[in-house]
Amino acid sequence: MQEHRARKRFGQNFLTDAMLVQRIVRAIAPQADDCMVEIGPGQGALTGPLREMLNVLHVVEIDRDLATHLRERNDPGLRVIEQDALQLDLQALFPGRDDLRVVGNLPYNISTPLLFHLLQQRASIRDMHFLLQREVVDRMAAAPGSGVYGRLSVMLQYCCAVEPLFHVPPEAFRPRPKVQSRVVRLIPREPHPIAEDPALLERLVKSAFSMRRKTLRNGLRAWVDADVIREAGLSAELRPEQVSVDEWVTLANVATGRGVY
Ligand code: SAM
Repeated sequence: MQEHRARKRFGQNFLTDAMLVQRIVRAIAPQADDCMVEIGPGQGALTGPLREMLNVLHVVEIDRDLATHLRERNDPGLRVIEQDALQLDLQALFPGRDDLRVVGNLPYNISTPLLFHLLQQRASIRDMHFLLQREVVDRMAAAPGSGVYGRLSVMLQYCCAVEPLFHVPPEAFRPRPKVQSRVVRLIPREPHPIAEDPALLERLVKSAFSMRRKTLRNGLRAWVDADVIREAGLSAELRPEQVSVDEWVTLANVATGRGVY
């Protein structure tokens, strides 16, 4: 393949460490019949080893040049979808499937919106393995009380088991990112307790954490009164990061019961 100049706008940091690639592939543990979707295959650092283990691999790449190179491999088992992953509609592409395995060394500039986009489609997904900026993985897995516990932690942990795996240093990439990275495994699961109105849960959490230094009473003023917060068993003087995922769900359900939407 002709030399490809990494495009910053597409968050292109290509993996060049073969040992690390193998470690990531082992963590994914592909089985030949898996229906796997790789987001951002780039120059194929993960794509090659994954494809060797799979009957078919679907890859989603936004960069036209990289997608063209992948198609030029003329591999009928490598299905290249040239598309923005933020527009990916898994149901439409894989109707009726609930066992997709989604993987990727994600472009760090869109990782959070992409995670939210995939969360909405979790009914199609069995598991996800991503290489991400370490700070994002810390936020995903954070426990209440931690300074990085926030909207991403609550909304991911609400419906997924989040398992941070090993660290990856900047030297494993070309060009080198300025940040440390980490592999994370996400396994969608049935929420418990379940939010009667998941969109309201999301709105409350988003609103509260956009003013994370404010108490619940003040941060949620536009949505609920302090007595709703108390009915959910919480002090209205708590800050959002002190509220566990289950407590957020309880609060949203009490609000739903009071007709908030
Ligand atoms: N998987 C390769 C590797 O590990 O070397 C490349 C990883 S690189 C961090 C991110 C890849 O995602 C690039 O190939 C980039 O072009 C692609 N990408 C960036 N934004 C994208 C988007 N919105 N949709 C699909 N692919 C995207």
